[in-house]
Amino acid sequence: MYKNKNIRIGLETHVQLNTRTKLFCSCSTQNILKAEPNSRTCPICLGHPGSKPKVNRVAIEMGIRIALALGCKIAPKIFFSRKTYFYPDMSKNYQITQYEIPLAKDGKLETIDENGKRKIIKIERINLEEDPAKLQHVGGNISNADYTLIDYNRSGIPLCEIVTAPDFSTPKETRMFLKRLMAILEYLRVFIPEKFSIKTDANISINGGKRVEIKNITGFLDLEKALISEIFRQRCVIERGEEIVRETRAWVPETKTTVPLRKKEFEEDYGYIFEPDLTKIEINKDWISEIKEKLPELPHQKFERYQKEFNIRSELASAITSDLDLAQFYEKIIKEVEPKFAASWINVLIKTLHYNNITIKDTKLTKDLFVKLLKLIQSKKVTDLGGEMILRKIIFNPEKFEILIKEYSKIEDMNKLNKLIEDVLKEEERAINDYRAGNEKVIQFLVGQVIRKSSKRIDAKIAYEMIKKKLETL
Ligand SMILES: [Zn+2]
Repeated sequence: MYKNKNIRIGLETHVQLNTRTKLFCSCSTQNILKAEPNSRTCPICLGHPGSKPKVNRVAIEMGIRIALALGCKIAPKIFFSRKTYFYPDMSKNYQITQYEIPLAKDGKLETIDENGKRKIIKIERINLEEDPAKLQHVGGNISNADYTLIDYNRSGIPLCEIVTAPDFSTPKETRMFLKRLMAILEYLRVFIPEKFSIKTDANISINGGKRVEIKNITGFLDLEKALISEIFRQRCVIERGEEIVRETRAWVPETKTTVPLRKKEFEEDYGYIFEPDLTKIEINKDWISEIKEKLPELPHQKFERYQKEFNIRSELASAITSDLDLAQFYEKIIKEVEPKFAASWINVLIKTLHYNNITIKDTKLTKDLFVKLLKLIQSKKVTDLGGEMILRKIIFNPEKFEILIKEYSKIEDMNKLNKLIEDVLKEEERAINDYRAGNEKVIQFLVGQVIRKSSKRIDAKIAYEMIKKKLETL
């Protein structure tokens, strides 16, 4: 694979903040994805001459929450700047952003490296800025479309930009990091994945060569794929004896390649100037302490607490706490069910969710139903395997719970059990001969057959003992 030490990757992640209104006007950002194009606009976010922006303090507060969660130093005073550029997605011909002094800097986030070891990634800075409008190229891409539509609903949505140092050595590390960062943002309630978007730019250099930036990658899976593809491309260029050009590229998920977008400009080229329509904003210590006091428990804090308080192994604690909804679901369950037992069943639930490629939010599973099921399993009225089968079905069809319980309830009737085992033994003459020849492993096979025949309504342990006894008396 790669010689990892020669690769340097840094990330710039843009998070749309979960505010009710835009960053510099009072246009609503709620249900923006479903809104009629250009229906959430006003003279300010359309950049009409004479319109004056006003800062949304909630957006600043959310930025401070992120900064605190990432251990950053927060600037005592901030101001905004105009980043000048000419493009239809920004009708003012400049974007209001932060450049000279970031909202916060010098933070860190602990993640895990390629080999599963702890690794600290430095957070260089955190900025606030407005999102540009959305362009839709109809009938092609940016260079060959028939025409382009512009939706200014997105124009002015607050973005928080989180910039890391080039501390990553492999694509996988960036995926692990982004996953953790997204979990933190969700815990902080500053980002809601169903309602808003998160995009990452990745810069990468190999062997100390020129930096290439890949723009606007959505999601952590594509981030990893884009970087794998770009590293492969750069290695090919180097092998051909050519030089890497400093440039900006775009990730095309359909072809799984990066394509050139433009030769990389330098930040200075944008001609930043101070935004005269906005005053400087003071962020005093009282405001910061007030926000700090209201910070929720964060993923890594929950992770440690679960291990300590409930004695849950670290992989499972990590899996539960990486999804806030799942963690909250678990915390409701353990009010009624013993925490370690509940965690083992949350693990089964996680496997079921993974298998279906969904999250708990996509299911119809309620706390009450899950508790009911766990209590039936705990009191041995339903076997573990039966419980698993029921869980797989009720996440989509909770109304079938009662029927499923009947279907999978444990067979208590000894006569029925005996009959079942006898039936299986009659069918499996070869296995019995094998057993007689000294192959004890065959019992496990017979246990499997009995469980299958009983529709998972018998415990493996009981089946094992009964079969063994029967075989010995044969
Ligand atoms: Zn507006």
